[in-house]
Amino acid sequence: MIRFTKALGACVMAAAMAAPVSAQSLIRDTEIEQVMRDYGDPLIEAAGLNPDSVGIHLIGDAEFNAFVTRGQNIFFHTGTITIADKPLEIKGVMAHEVGHIEGAHIARSQSATQGAMATMIASIGLGLAAALAGAGDAGAAIMASGPQFATLDMMRYTRGQEAQADQAALTFLERTGQSGSGLVSTFERFRYQEVMSDQRRWEYFRSHPLSSQRIDAMRRRVEQSPYRDVTDTEEEVATLRRIQAKIIGFMHPPAQVLNHYPESDTSLPARYARSVAYFKQGNLERAREILATLIEEEPDNPFFHELEGQMLFESGRIADSIAPYRRAAEMMPEAPLLRIGLAGSLIAEGSDENVREAQQHLRFALTEERDNPFGWYQMSIAHQALGEIALAELATAERSFAVGNNVDAYRFAARARDQLDRGTPAWVRATEIAAVAEPSQREISEYNRRQRERMGNLAPATRDFRDEPRRRVFH
Ligand SMILES: [Zn+2]
Repeated sequence: MIRFTKALGACVMAAAMAAPVSAQSLIRDTEIEQVMRDYGDPLIEAAGLNPDSVGIHLIGDAEFNAFVTRGQNIFFHTGTITIADKPLEIKGVMAHEVGHIEGAHIARSQSATQGAMATMIASIGLGLAAALAGAGDAGAAIMASGPQFATLDMMRYTRGQEAQADQAALTFLERTGQSGSGLVSTFERFRYQEVMSDQRRWEYFRSHPLSSQRIDAMRRRVEQSPYRDVTDTEEEVATLRRIQAKIIGFMHPPAQVLNHYPESDTSLPARYARSVAYFKQGNLERAREILATLIEEEPDNPFFHELEGQMLFESGRIADSIAPYRRAAEMMPEAPLLRIGLAGSLIAEGSDENVREAQQHLRFALTEERDNPFGWYQMSIAHQALGEIALAELATAERSFAVGNNVDAYRFAARARDQLDRGTPAWVRATEIAAVAEPSQREISEYNRRQRERMGNLAPATRDFRDEPRRRVFH
């Protein structure tokens, strides 16, 4: 199960605001998340932690970066995945971040425990970020950000903590029978770049140079490990190539993608990336032609069907998109995001029967991921379509609550509560949210201030961070 973001540091928000939304958002993708959980869960267990309580999140950004925030959340830039030569490198970085969690290097803070206070950027599907950024109010509602960002600060580690996390990482890798060579080679690569090119030096390493001493200490231990020479399996490497292609296909300009994966490359990852690139170019026919070859090779792969559904949906072929989404959801019924994708198509199609089915999928998905704002957004639309206004307001209250907007959560929950039949589960939930989310005077003033700013046509959260430098936080 995936727990959603409870805390995200101020620096990240600064960066998110400085860059176009399409370039940097928290993104969701079942296929990629599954791979990251496969890498992370054994390491988290080896650290004596519960995988269910450690979130692994992806930020759409081509730069190499990974960090931990309060509330046991690990963030990876997608660049960390695409830059990696092999899975062991990502696992090494993952193990290092788990080391920071296990070492309790992040102080427990009062602010982290204040309910749903800190979800800043809503979670959206890979490739959906750009579409939503251009969707005006709807996009803004889904990608809602909160002023709470300003109150959280990003952790800075001491040299001693870094060394400790390095050693802990090697311990977790050893306990899982894996080699630490990937962590060493990642650090060596960045050290090489540091020496070779000032321009390409990554921001984090600029302020926290990788001492050769730090790398030597790791290398010595890796060389003594009985698992020194254990490599990734061929299957693991193939899976990494596949998600790399998917990320590159979605995140990079199509011309670049077609250059990186030329027609002469008929491998599965290359076709995967090209299919996405053609789709983004608006060439649906070619995109589907290539995707069909993938589906023919792996008819039971839910992610290919999911992609077909997405392509059709975003091309306006709503009714046609239902079948492929349904296939994907049937192949992986426990995956919330596939259900939410299917629900989106069913709702857009609009018949009462389909909207009711969508509600069932959303109910399932939102039981798994209570604080998925996109899911709640869909749920509110579904209720609205059926004329269930109070329930639509309750869903909006849930969405606001999930993104830490207490004022709206309270407002909509109170309205829903007043219309719903006393004692029903929905009434109980509305009452609960209204009680928990009741905003303080300070929150109300802050909310009003933001409303005024919005009127003044000023992006609300931008102002606070406008002068913040774009800082990098990989530790
Ligand atoms: Zn670190």
